[in-house]
Amino acid sequence: MEFDLIERIRGCCGSKRADVALGIGDDAAVLDVPAGRQLVACTDTLVAGVHFPEATAPGDIGWKSLAVNLSDLAAMGAEPAWALLALTLPSPDTHFVEGFAGGFAELARGHAVALVGGDTTQGPLSVTVTALGWVPTGSALTRGGAHPGDAVYVTGTLGDAAGALQLLRDRERVPQALLARLQRPRPRIAEGIALRGLASACIDVSDGLLADLRHVCATSGIAAELDSGSLPISSALAATFGAETCRELALSGGDDYELCITIPPAREAELLGAFARTRGEATRIGSIVAGSGVRVLDARGDDVTPMRAGWEHFSA
Ligand code: ADP
Ligand code: MG
Repeated sequence: MEFDLIERIRGCCGSKRADVALGIGDDAAVLDVPAGRQLVACTDTLVAGVHFPEATAPGDIGWKSLAVNLSDLAAMGAEPAWALLALTLPSPDTHFVEGFAGGFAELARGHAVALVGGDTTQGPLSVTVTALGWVPTGSALTRGGAHPGDAVYVTGTLGDAAGALQLLRDRERVPQALLARLQRPRPRIAEGIALRGLASACIDVSDGLLADLRHVCATSGIAAELDSGSLPISSALAATFGAETCRELALSGGDDYELCITIPPAREAELLGAFARTRGEATRIGSIVAGSGVRVLDARGDDVTPMRAGWEHFSA
């Protein structure tokens, strides 16, 4: 049964790449890393009931399990190439596996990612994807390079996925534009690549803007001040929630999979030019200052930093 499931996954997810010397079927994959490039590797686990509601459609779980990993590669400025999939299933459910593989494959094809291996086991539903990609040597974006005076930008809009999750939990109608952000997040691969050599620091927003920007501040040894009025809010979110809730969702909601970046002011015009070419959007939301931590200020300069920073496992 296990081999039947693996065969089904292989049949639909093995996007062909010339740099896969040996893919699914042997004890491990053999991959050609191009000369002059560094391998960039990340892994993320999705657990049913923790990272997605139990009732989520299999195709959406498949898409998201890859998307959250591609988002980490995007934050490094990496071009994705290969993925591995460790799947733990309560039962050998071919309906689930086919739906799952369909969603996974749809996103994988869009970014020319080949599934090159994995593992299939029995237990409570859990999905671990490992994504591999590459950057030209020395050009990876990190959390560590932000300096006082840098501008803080974020791609896309914030809070949409968290808004959708809140409506689902409250058993209310969820506008399609918000639901799509929760179920099928689009990793900002083209934007990440365009940011190589431009951004001083970069992180993907998965746990909430405040929580993730705090990581940049801690690693870079600086502080950030955000302007609450400049947070990018979608028209769908603004039409569904009041202004204050929108702000909270944007700051602390999580599951956005946008990129938060810092950039020296002299490079801002290049950033906007590069994004115009990739049809990406970015909004200036604040600046880097000396100190530590993240403060959110309103138009009068009053502190409106929320108490709850964002999502954290093992928090009390
Ligand atoms: P082993 O016992 O050597 O770990 P497996 O039976 O687990 O081998 O896997 C056989 C082959 O199928 C391997 O190449 C493995 O990478 C691949 N594979 C297993 N499960 C998956 C999966 N869920 N997705 C992709 N490839 C898988
Ligand atoms: Mg195995």
